[in-house]
Amino acid sequence: MNKPLKQHLIDPEICIRCYTCEMTCPLEAIEHDDNNVVVDASKCNFCMDCIPVCPTGSIDEWRVVNDPYSLDEQFEWDELPAQADIQTAGGEVETGMEALDEAMAALLAEAHAGAGGKAKAPASASKPTVNMYNLGKPAKAVVQGNYRLTSEDSDSDVRHIILDLGGLPFPVLEGQSVGIIPPGTDDEGKPHLPRLYSVSSPRDGERPNFNNLSLTVKRDEGGLCSNYVCDLKKGDTVQLTGPFGATFLMPEDPQARLLMICTGTGSAPMRAFTMRRQRSVGAKSGGMVMFFGARTPESLPYFGPLNKVPDTLLKKHLVFSRIPGAAKEYVQDRMRAEEDVVAEMIADPNTHIYICGLRGMEEGVEKTLTNIAESIGQPWGALRDTMRNEGRYHVETY
Ligand code: NAP
Repeated sequence: MNKPLKQHLIDPEICIRCYTCEMTCPLEAIEHDDNNVVVDASKCNFCMDCIPVCPTGSIDEWRVVNDPYSLDEQFEWDELPAQADIQTAGGEVETGMEALDEAMAALLAEAHAGAGGKAKAPASASKPTVNMYNLGKPAKAVVQGNYRLTSEDSDSDVRHIILDLGGLPFPVLEGQSVGIIPPGTDDEGKPHLPRLYSVSSPRDGERPNFNNLSLTVKRDEGGLCSNYVCDLKKGDTVQLTGPFGATFLMPEDPQARLLMICTGTGSAPMRAFTMRRQRSVGAKSGGMVMFFGARTPESLPYFGPLNKVPDTLLKKHLVFSRIPGAAKEYVQDRMRAEEDVVAEMIADPNTHIYICGLRGMEEGVEKTLTNIAESIGQPWGALRDTMRNEGRYHVETY
């Protein structure tokens, strides 16, 4: 093997253990233990298939090394080791990230196109706790409630699930996710992998100062975990991993404004953000604007409660794609119709953008943001990179 070599790694602090990379890798170079998801340097050929599918950007870590980190070393990590200085073949010493050459940078730029890219947490966000409970040591929660959020005659069955952690510490911030381990085993007799759900309650609990949290879960036809969760009864016990996620967090700065764009159950973290603001500033100006898309009002999660949130706290644009007799409207269409509002917000350095929901919405939303940004003389690519670097641009789409 030529030395030094580049090694592909995963940031254990940012990774939300959704295992999408592991399922995507054509070489089976990605694997996990109870704790971490890791890359086998002897198998990875830098095909980059795993880069765009990662919802957090944690997959996008590279080090130049003389000897690759072993799987066992990676399984032990709580955080990534820094790039060490490297002695090159010519005997020169390259420092830190200089060791990553231009060819690699170009390759990465290409893999990033269209993906969420590397995210950063807002500068004023609280420090999240991550990976406190894992596959080997899951937390046990008791179901406190399971309420249908969509009307009985809607074909979309979305549930509000409240989980009680009892005396168990489970510190979770708005925007973080938890894993739920469905009971039983797969065809090979292995325990099922946890499925990830965004927490839809604020940090002090669904009910203030109770050690509980809520999730927003849609029943997927044939979905193993979503059917398990949607069928849970009060008093059932559930195994949880997490919390996960260290970047899709809200700013603590009360002056920060939030532009929230979501579809369907992607509204879960937006509910948590809204409740956090509501509990901290009351009905005063919350500086929050939401574009929220669903098929119909009957299938829009939290339609009733959302409509009761005062406009001063949260300006809502609820858009519907399947109302009989009405034209199909997507979030990006409404953003275009409200371009002055969006333009004013994206020009404000206090604004944070959050996009959550269907993967397919990302392209349309990006296009609309491009047009609106350009109409105010700001090239969107550059503005988005600035916002991302400042922890003000966040995407979580599946
Ligand atoms: P859905 O009901 O299928 O769709 C919601 C709305 O989005 C519908 O009006 C739909 O319109 C519209 N839509 C479809 N394609 C679009 C596009 N290209 N651009 C803009 N809007 C589009 O949504 P869902 O089943 O609730 O799915 C939400 C997604 O969020 C899931 O993929 C889920 O994994 C993800 N997510 C969930 C969480 C969570 O915590 N629960 C967190 C992060 C992400 P039409 O169907 O009429 O075309």
